[in-house]
Amino acid sequence: MQKIYENQSFTMERRLYIYNTLSRRKELFTPLHEGHVGMYVCGPTVYGDAHLGHARPAITFDIVFRYLQHLGYKVRYVRNITDVGHLEHDADEGEDKIAKKARLEQLEPMEVVQYYENRYHKAMEALNVLPPSIEPHASGHIIEQIQLVKDILANGYAYESEGSIYFDVPKYNEDHRYGKLSGRNLQDVINTSRDNLDGQQEKHNPVDFALWKKAQPEHIMRWPSPWSDGFPGWHCECTAMGKKYLGSHFDIHGGGMDLVFPHHECEIAQAVASQGDDMVHYWMHNNMITINGQKMGKSLGNFITLDEFFSGNNKALPQPYSPMTIRFFILMAHYRSTVDFSNDALQAAEKGMQRLMEGWNNLGRITPSEASTIDVSNLREQCYEAMSDDLNTPIVISHLFDACRQINQVLDKKATVSADDLQELTDVFRTFLFDILGMREESTDGNAAREEAYGKVVDMLLEQRAIAKANKDWATSDKIRDELTALGFEIKDTKDGATWKLNR
Ligand code: ZN
Repeated sequence: MQKIYENQSFTMERRLYIYNTLSRRKELFTPLHEGHVGMYVCGPTVYGDAHLGHARPAITFDIVFRYLQHLGYKVRYVRNITDVGHLEHDADEGEDKIAKKARLEQLEPMEVVQYYENRYHKAMEALNVLPPSIEPHASGHIIEQIQLVKDILANGYAYESEGSIYFDVPKYNEDHRYGKLSGRNLQDVINTSRDNLDGQQEKHNPVDFALWKKAQPEHIMRWPSPWSDGFPGWHCECTAMGKKYLGSHFDIHGGGMDLVFPHHECEIAQAVASQGDDMVHYWMHNNMITINGQKMGKSLGNFITLDEFFSGNNKALPQPYSPMTIRFFILMAHYRSTVDFSNDALQAAEKGMQRLMEGWNNLGRITPSEASTIDVSNLREQCYEAMSDDLNTPIVISHLFDACRQINQVLDKKATVSADDLQELTDVFRTFLFDILGMREESTDGNAAREEAYGKVVDMLLEQRAIAKANKDWATSDKIRDELTALGFEIKDTKDGATWKLNR
């Protein structure tokens, strides 16, 4: 039995399909180096608390990380911390977001970075997101970014202007295609470029983007370079750090869909302009979380932080939601679909997750029979097929729900399960619910062992009730049933004795 499954997982490994944003279709995943995968994912800019929009890419690529490792790959997962710059994005204010926060809170910029980075890690740990293999900081890789700018300049795709260096997009577009990831052409980009951006008068063309910016006198975060004291443009860090830790060609680059343009488009242009070709084999993007159809984001002011979800401390929330509820809510949608936030949707996720966890806990209470009347033979294969079809977590979850229905039938003594099948069910739950989907058990008092002891007490009470019934002591029998019901236990009398379930 075990051997067959090992073989299946081996063949599945060769049939993992992932959607490549660049080709706009699902492709068979084939790593550049057999058995090894390099993956780079754009991490957070640490100038504020992580919100629901940050949880989605972290969880999406945690699933990719977990599943690739499960299939037997050795994965080097790099996720950066952006602690420099972003001037381009905040151009109207003309101030680095981290430096602005530092000024408002009277802190060193690196104090702001450290504070929010620690809080980000805490939130990720609560969501059971595995730490990446390497978590490089943009500020720690200025030398690599300066080298990247030098290479692009040497190849003629950038120019100096007043101590700043800009990427020459029209020049690049003559030789290569700018816009191939986002599907835009240069004219579209020119038409939509705002002309009031900072440094616009220094640029040859409004579509050109900064590779290096000369710092204004009041700018605190600055480094020496051959061109000026200044700081790198935002897009440089991921190209430079991806190359440093994963090599000039690597397998997967991921991030949120909002990063496709301009960030990842510019990364491709920088890679091609510096080394002659793309670094990335597969581009993967998770879709957005919306509130009433609008993107959730710090700059839009409609975000709810993860800590607020965990504590319930936000006017928009009628109750707290546990980290595992948030994780499950995100996994209930395919990563390329949008997820619209609502309390109804979160409460449904909470109920669904509890149902799966009860199914898991109930597995430990089942006594196996000689033979099974339920069929679990396809469950594992179905789960692998769903995961291998572009990481279809909602389908995996629906298969686990089907398994829960079978577990309940056994519990209600309407079906039987053999020892082998019970072992198989237990194994599939452990593999898919915990190892691959990365869920973990959480109980209200945080003590699973205590909860298990409660279950044994309920079993004892039902035995006492059976004795009372046998003695026709109806008063005692009813009292036990009524009090358990009042505590939320659903008691069912069957011809083989009473069964119970905890309804929360
Ligand atoms: Zn990035």
